[in-house]
Amino acid sequence: MNIHEYQGKELLAKFGIGIPAGVAALTVEEAVAAAKTLPGPLYVVKAQIHAGGRGKGKFKELGPDAKGGVRLAFSLDEVESNAREMLGNTLVTVQTGEAGKQVNRLYITDGVDIAAEYYLSMVVDRASGRVAMIVSTEGGMDIETVAHDTPEKITTITIDPATGFMPHHGRAVAFALKLTGELNKQAQKLAAQLYTAFTSLDCAMLEINPLVETKDGRLLVLDTKMSFDSNAMFRHKDVEALRDETEEDPMEVEASKYDLAYIKLDGDIGCMVNGAGLAMATMDIIKLNGMFPANFLDVGGGANKEKVTAAFKIILSDPAVKGILVNIFGGIMRCDTIAEGIVAAAKEVNLSVPLVVRLEGTNVDAGKAILANSGLAIVPADDLGDAAQKIVAEVKKAA
Ligand code: GDP
Ligand code: MG
Repeated sequence: MNIHEYQGKELLAKFGIGIPAGVAALTVEEAVAAAKTLPGPLYVVKAQIHAGGRGKGKFKELGPDAKGGVRLAFSLDEVESNAREMLGNTLVTVQTGEAGKQVNRLYITDGVDIAAEYYLSMVVDRASGRVAMIVSTEGGMDIETVAHDTPEKITTITIDPATGFMPHHGRAVAFALKLTGELNKQAQKLAAQLYTAFTSLDCAMLEINPLVETKDGRLLVLDTKMSFDSNAMFRHKDVEALRDETEEDPMEVEASKYDLAYIKLDGDIGCMVNGAGLAMATMDIIKLNGMFPANFLDVGGGANKEKVTAAFKIILSDPAVKGILVNIFGGIMRCDTIAEGIVAAAKEVNLSVPLVVRLEGTNVDAGKAILANSGLAIVPADDLGDAAQKIVAEVKKAA
């Protein structure tokens, strides 16, 4: 789960971390009112979308010479005109894809006099089984470019969960940022605060780009992106409430209502599978047979008729889907129950594309009989390879 920049900063501020003052706004009037609460004379009007690269982004509706999604404003009038230009328009950045994202919220912040920009991010590093802090003196830039061209400018510090954050981690962060004196101390303190925030909020990723040194010698979080472990959100109702569904793929939102793990992909073949590992294998074997999966979809261990129907509807609502491959292993769930669910769902949604079903496991013969006697044009398959070949052949035949 992702949140907006202003929400991330407000969460970090609760841990004592320094951020520029700012207020979120949904309308031009709110933007001006927000600016009036700030000291001025420099304001920053920032588009709030779940994507980075806003500063260098371009608005679809405005010409190529128009400014991007992060704009400095030197008066209340400029706040107003910038807010008017940005709200409701579509911002395209390197992270949004061509379609871009509509700007529905702004964040009006106190303009900061920047002396230097740094980079600091945190992730759960699966390879080391630890939380890693990634720091660089090259802030405000595309970190992928820094990693590619000058990898020596990036330092990774991992924190053993058994000890937690230790003073030496803070010193390593401050040293990697080449900070001295008072700023060095601030960086050590900030690193400790960030570790506390990251672990106590169950973050998956926290990126600060840039972390800035102000001309009056303070370290401030100027921009942040935060994402959370969805499985831990039950214990952070306040964070869960920050979810902005308008920023998410509508089908993924629908899938989450039924507890289905669905991720939209670019291919032609819709997949409905139980178990993430089997779903991955199904996607691989579709590719091996020369086509591409339209989605990843794990209906989970306890798939019932309702879930199967919802899954079918979600798969079919993607206009790119030219065929569906159902690959289900009946373990706890029996194959006959699953077959009944598939038949009922296929009838309910008026299935209009080829459907290949591979069932295996408990009561498989009874399950296959239900599919065969359903009166529907369901193509049965015996194993994974057979299923993939059949769906690819059916889709090509229908084309
Ligand atoms: P992003 O483009 O989505 O990463 O948005 P950022 O919040 O990182 O802003 C992009 C850039 O705008 C920053 O790297 C800064 O150079 C600049 N910027 C943002 N806020 C301020 C500010 O308060 N003062 C000044 N001088 N520049 C700012
Ligand atoms: Mg940034």
